[in-house]
Amino acid sequence: MEKKNLDWANLGFGYMTTEYRYVSNYKNGKWDDGAIVTDSDITLNECAAVFQYAQTIFEGLKAYTTENGEIVCFRPDLNAQRMKDSSERIEMPVFPEERFIDAVEQVVKANAAWVPPFGSGATLYIRPYMMGTNSVIGVKPAEEYQFRIFVTPVGPYFKGGAKPLTIRVSDFDRAAPHGTGHIKAGLNYAMSLHPIVDAHKKGYDENMYLDPASRSFVEETGGANFIFITKDGKFVTPKSDSILPSITRRSLMVVAEKYLGLTVEHRQVKFSELDDFAECGLCGTAAVISPVGKIDDHGREICFPSGMEEMGPVTKKLYDTLTGIQMGEIEGPEGWVHKIM
Ligand SMILES: *Cc1c(COP(=O)(O)O)cnc(C)c1O
Repeated sequence: MEKKNLDWANLGFGYMTTEYRYVSNYKNGKWDDGAIVTDSDITLNECAAVFQYAQTIFEGLKAYTTENGEIVCFRPDLNAQRMKDSSERIEMPVFPEERFIDAVEQVVKANAAWVPPFGSGATLYIRPYMMGTNSVIGVKPAEEYQFRIFVTPVGPYFKGGAKPLTIRVSDFDRAAPHGTGHIKAGLNYAMSLHPIVDAHKKGYDENMYLDPASRSFVEETGGANFIFITKDGKFVTPKSDSILPSITRRSLMVVAEKYLGLTVEHRQVKFSELDDFAECGLCGTAAVISPVGKIDDHGREICFPSGMEEMGPVTKKLYDTLTGIQMGEIEGPEGWVHKIM
């Protein structure tokens, strides 16, 4: 298979149309067989549920080329499960978990020429999503749905590679007003667009959201969970019902404990504790682990002692171990690396 002739090392985190995508339709109470198709456009009625009430959900995962040339993805069963949770919360039919994994395999195989080579620094981003497609005017769920997956090769999520980010404490709450924090659904993200644009305008890379009830606990950013390293080397990550349960974060908790021998604390993190941490990072499929150097709290700067110039030492070990597992250089726990071809 001939790879596409792309400048892999300099890809940003953007969308590029590839040849193939997966589509399955839900009608009269059941999913059809699904197929790989070539048309990247979707034509829908003006009154489709996705347009009127944002009845749409999504997932994100990546495919990697390993050192020995295999194409793999990372824990797709957890994406299938989270998409099921999202479907149930937003009153959509579940796309069966085993079919989700099969569809990911089909679309990656069809687009194998777009999977970046080992060592290029790029990966293939996989975007499963589902939307209500029939017309709905009263506030109620659709009866027809479309499940789709497209793929696109991507580089780093944050520009500037491993240079630590500066983020700010957001005055905005990002969640929709009905407690939809656990799902990857269109409405949550639409509500985070204004805070992110506003942050960028003011020179920050991201927003740190606090819990909306008391504004005293750390939640997450617009698209990534937080990890912290204490001065005595413990791994701390916030626990909250309104944080997206990141697969990367859940994996890093295992890597920290089992591979690096760190003490792992998954608990509420007070905003006032931030001064005590030595390192801070953002983690997610897109962000991988991106170091945070500075947090601006309305003019008061919180700087992390190791990590202002480059990734802190413990964060670096976590990064190397996680990406080593994903790229097949380090043996991962059973079932983490899913071979596609
Ligand atoms: C996707 C996402 C994450 C990261 O989750 P992963 O499963 O690690 O990719 C974290 N927070 C938000 C809000 C997200 O959308």
